[in-house]
Amino acid sequence: MSEIKRLGGEILEHLRCYQDLGVQLVENKTRAGRPGTPSSRVAQQAPAANPKLAVTVPRASLFDEQASAFEDLETIRADLGDCQRCKLAGTRSNIVFGMGNPKAELMFVGEAPGADEDEQGLPFVGRAGQLLTKIIQAIEMRREDVYICNILKCRPPQNRNPEPDEIAACQPFLFRQIASIRPRVICALGTFGAQTLLRTKEPISRLRGQFIDFHGAKFIATFHPAYLLRNPSEKRKVWEDVQKIRDYLRSLNKQ
Ligand code: URA
Repeated sequence: MSEIKRLGGEILEHLRCYQDLGVQLVENKTRAGRPGTPSSRVAQQAPAANPKLAVTVPRASLFDEQASAFEDLETIRADLGDCQRCKLAGTRSNIVFGMGNPKAELMFVGEAPGADEDEQGLPFVGRAGQLLTKIIQAIEMRREDVYICNILKCRPPQNRNPEPDEIAACQPFLFRQIASIRPRVICALGTFGAQTLLRTKEPISRLRGQFIDFHGAKFIATFHPAYLLRNPSEKRKVWEDVQKIRDYLRSLNKQ
C-alpha cells in the first residue's frame, strides 16, 4: 500500500471518530480561539461551573496522604488476588482490574464490567467500550495512553446496579489504583461513577462537564458511553466535556 493511501485511510478513520461522536465541525487549529470561529462557539456552549452542587470532596491530596501512594499496580492486583470480599465473587467469570498506562494523565472510571468484560477480564471491550475508544481517539489520544477501570471489579448479575457492600469492598482498591497512577484528570463515566467518587446524589446532568478538585487531581464527569448508545443526541455534550479534558491536559503540558 502506498504511503498516501495509508495516510488517507488514517485520516478517514479519524474523521469517522468525530462523525460517530456526532461532531459536525472539525477544529481548525489555526483559527482556534478566535471570536466567532466554530471552536470558540463550542467553548462558549460548555456548561459553567455550578457553585450549588452538593459535593464535599476532602481538600487534602489522596496521593500525598496515603502510604500506598508509591505502590505499583502489580502490587495492588496481587493484593486483590482471587477476591472473595463480596458476593459478586460467586457469579463473576473474571475480575476486571483495569487496563492502560500505569502513568496515565487521564483515567476513566466506569460503573462495573458487563458480559463482554466479564468474559475477557478487560474493561470497556463491548459496544460501549468501542464508543469509549472513539471518544478517546477524538481527543487525539489512544487507549494505551489512558487508564480505564470501574467502580466495581466484578460483574453484577444481569448488570444490575452495584450494591453498597460491593462498592465498599472494591473502593479501597480503586483508590489505591488512583494513588498509584496519580492521573491529572479523573473522568467518571455515568451517574454511578460520578456519584460514588463524589459521594453525592446529584444527578449526572448537573455533575457533568465541570472540573472539581479531587484529592489533588481534577475530576470531571460525563455521560456513560452505554447511555450515548441509547441517546445519540447527547454525544454533543460528551464531546464538549472531553474537549475540556483535552484542553486542560494540553495547557499543563505547555507549562
Ligand atoms: N460499562 C462499564 O461501566 N464498564 C465496563 O467495563 C463496561 C461497560
